[in-house]
Amino acid sequence: MRRKVLAGNWKMYKTRGEAHAFLEAFVPLISPGAENREVILCGPFTCLDVLNAQAGPYAVGAQNVHWADHGAYTGEIAPQMLVELGVRYVIVGHSERREYFNETDSTVNRRLNNAQDHDLLPILCVGETESVRKDGMTEAHIRSQLDRDLELVDLRRLIIAYEPIWAIGTGKTCEANEANRVCAMIRKHVNFEGVPILYGGSVKPENIDELMAQSDIDGVLVGGASLEAKSFARIVNFES
Ligand code: 13P
Repeated sequence: MRRKVLAGNWKMYKTRGEAHAFLEAFVPLISPGAENREVILCGPFTCLDVLNAQAGPYAVGAQNVHWADHGAYTGEIAPQMLVELGVRYVIVGHSERREYFNETDSTVNRRLNNAQDHDLLPILCVGETESVRKDGMTEAHIRSQLDRDLELVDLRRLIIAYEPIWAIGTGKTCEANEANRVCAMIRKHVNFEGVPILYGGSVKPENIDELMAQSDIDGVLVGGASLEAKSFARIVNFES
């Protein structure tokens, strides 16, 4: 059985003090039955050591990592700097990075490889825009992202998140059966049964149980609803 992964992406939210307060409220809300679930909190860089100190059994993730180990790259972060803070996971290729920071499949690929070279577990994000979906090009677009992003990447040490861009932060969740269909397509395309595939895009307490009941959705990557302890706890405590 593939493991269940519940990951929160805090994006550019929460100071260290706010992260501390979140964990104080969140940790006691997790039910014991949730122990075989992998919970990952991906905070801003400045919160990572707070998360590591206070998150107990839950893992810490970053939201980006550079492809070089050091160098004149103002504003970037190297993998060993994250490892030193207790980080185990890193989101790579989020659509917000691709859209606002000119991230390309080539830079995503280089970041993925360097993350793995330092034993970080990358969470690769792929997904289509609304216009790509309207044009009937969803599958072709995602296959092309996967082919380019995953060159030389070790599939045994990877998580993939399917995040349709039109569903991110919009409140428009992809229907559970459609999200499942695309996740199954991704699994087939990478041709590795064991890779955990997550769905992301307006996941909330109201839709988590239906999403997690799907055969090819192994978990979720949650933005807005991971910022509030009660709602993220309900997501982690999903009913199977
Ligand atoms: P929302 O859950 O806020 O739609 O964000 C999804 C996301 O981008 C997670 O990486």
